[in-house]
Amino acid sequence: MQKINLNQKIQFLKGIGPRKARVFEKIGIKTTEDLLYFKPKKYVDRRSITKIRYLKANQDEVVYGQVFTKGTRRVGRNKEFFIVIIKDETGWMELVFVNTPYFVKSFRIGDEVVACGKVLEYKGIKQMFHPEFEVLDKKRRDLIHAGKIIPIYPQISSSQGKSKIILRPKFIRTLIYEILEEIKEDIPEKLPEYIVKSQKLLSRKKAIYYLHFPYSFGIAETAQKTLIFEEFFYYFIHLMLYRYQKFKTFPIKVKHELTKRFIDSLKFKLTNDQKRVIREIEVDMAKELPMRRLLQGEVGSGKTVVALYAALIAIENGFQVAFMAPTEILAEQHFSVITSFFKKLPVECSILKGKIKTKEKREILRRILDGEINLVVGTHSLIQEEVEFKNLGLVIVDEQHKFGVSQRATLVKKGKFPHLLVMTATPIPRTLALALYGDLEISTIKEMPAGRGKITTSLVKKSNRKEFYSRLFEKIIRDREKVYIVAPFIEKSEKLEVKACEEIFSEISKWLPEQIKIGILHSRISSEERIEVMEKFKNGEISILTATPMIEVGIDVKDATIMVIEGAERFGLAQLHQLRGRIGRGEKDSFCVVIVDDNISEDAKKRINAFLKTNDGFSLSEVDLRLRGPGDFLGTRQHGYLNFKTGDILKNKDILLKAKRQAEAVLEKDPELKLLENKVISSNIYTEDRIFLSEIG
Ligand code: ADP
Ligand code: MG
Repeated sequence: MQKINLNQKIQFLKGIGPRKARVFEKIGIKTTEDLLYFKPKKYVDRRSITKIRYLKANQDEVVYGQVFTKGTRRVGRNKEFFIVIIKDETGWMELVFVNTPYFVKSFRIGDEVVACGKVLEYKGIKQMFHPEFEVLDKKRRDLIHAGKIIPIYPQISSSQGKSKIILRPKFIRTLIYEILEEIKEDIPEKLPEYIVKSQKLLSRKKAIYYLHFPYSFGIAETAQKTLIFEEFFYYFIHLMLYRYQKFKTFPIKVKHELTKRFIDSLKFKLTNDQKRVIREIEVDMAKELPMRRLLQGEVGSGKTVVALYAALIAIENGFQVAFMAPTEILAEQHFSVITSFFKKLPVECSILKGKIKTKEKREILRRILDGEINLVVGTHSLIQEEVEFKNLGLVIVDEQHKFGVSQRATLVKKGKFPHLLVMTATPIPRTLALALYGDLEISTIKEMPAGRGKITTSLVKKSNRKEFYSRLFEKIIRDREKVYIVAPFIEKSEKLEVKACEEIFSEISKWLPEQIKIGILHSRISSEERIEVMEKFKNGEISILTATPMIEVGIDVKDATIMVIEGAERFGLAQLHQLRGRIGRGEKDSFCVVIVDDNISEDAKKRINAFLKTNDGFSLSEVDLRLRGPGDFLGTRQHGYLNFKTGDILKNKDILLKAKRQAEAVLEKDPELKLLENKVISSNIYTEDRIFLSEIG
């Protein structure tokens, strides 16, 4: 038989066909290696075997005996016990299987058997019901399921056609045991020995073996730690390699020309946080090492101004700037904000939209390539191949969490290691930020611009909805409020969200007193109409704007004061927080109202309660992370990015930090991984199928 190797598809392993392979695949296990990284959910100690006579009722025990006889016993009308009697030199007992004759076929008289399970006593007879058992192999005589510490894997299953395939822990254990028996000596190392030693880890060989079949609970823990460390370590090496290889870019020093005129033209004073971040950016951009900075700050904290300052540093030095936003609406809005900010400055701005005439587009592309355009705003459209710059010096990515790493990377690739500033208003707990953006420096704006009104959040039950709206209409008439009403979030499709939005729109239109005007905004409305509606909302012709959740990012109408979120129980905390960030931008006090179903789940209750209690995005994001776990927290786009096979960035924070420090130390000493001692690292690094960040920036 051919020898098993680590990259081999599990489908071709002995005992697994395509159907079973599919069950494994469902949980991400495709190769032998994946399987060997499959972590037991717990271990049980089956090292000591108890003689039958000393078995204690109601305890989990392991026994060893020889099959003496077997038979069936009818109990009641439709129960049949299949019984195997085993004995050792101290006594005998029954292994009982209810209505499951097939188990009994595994036993033959005289077989040596190990059984594990809870001991029961019935009329003085000791029994185990459905014990986990193992019939000893005459040739091997080496136990898999007893006599040692035993891994218990999660049971996995999947429905295929009419049947459901279940892979039981015992099956998985046997499978892994047999693979390990064959290849445990051939598992290649991935960490240099000096790291294994100094971090007090195990060799990979041992770690993988002891992950499944440890000789003590302590060694199982070290084994897991080793594998987690290894994965985090490589993650950081990938993330940071470019930094240490010192790809050079053009240092850009602030000239205080455009930048100064810009600051002088502002109608407000920068907050201290804004000033501090601006200085951090100035220092970064003046270096030969390209800036990689994440700017995080609450919605409305004024990140855009900071970004525009950075843009002007580049522009006053003759470089171009690309400004990427996640949606067309947001790009349009940025564009209009930017042009009004830059009205009096000699800066050529342009927007690259999805739907424009070919001729117009060709002209914009040409002007970007010729360097006539200093700053271009756009969505993913900026990533397209046809977009070429003359000398891209700075890339700004807004609402960074909406993009995948690769999109950010593709844009950066369009220059020669341009500086990069990414912004997010989804506050990320530090741990997560570290894991996600290990390659980025982090700046945080905490301070809100002065003179903003308070935001109060309250809850309305769906049964009181109509009454709430009539009070709302009165308030709109009395206080000339501007109101957003957001349709419920429906994960399934954009179409459904548009539908929900239209339903609410027409329902509310019916209830609405004549003097109040209402508008609607969603992705299926043409961009001209969108701009028109936004304009009407801004100048007060329209008082209510009904929208899909897409307005969550970036929309900036200063005197919008009320946010009504329909079906709020369906929204994630981050999204609720983003939505609330659309109000409270002016001096007037603002109100956020969440309308929720009368009966909601426990989790939704927790989310809503947290949301009512605080306005602080950071503490909300901690709650969110706790409720959802890291994979879900970031949404699907970045899911894969954080999907560590072995570790959990929250639970294994200490290992994460150690791995990061180790990766830094390695690269500090050997930035190109040329030393012999690091050969094992460099030979592994190019084979990983993760995005190789050092290549892209
Ligand atoms: P965000 O951080 O959510 O992107 P913006 O940059 O859109 O926030 O800023 C929100 C609003 O606050 C904008 O209208 C902006 O012009 C204004 N703003 C920014 N900085 C200040 C400041 N220091 N003082 C007053 N208003 C400011
Ligand atoms: Mg913004």
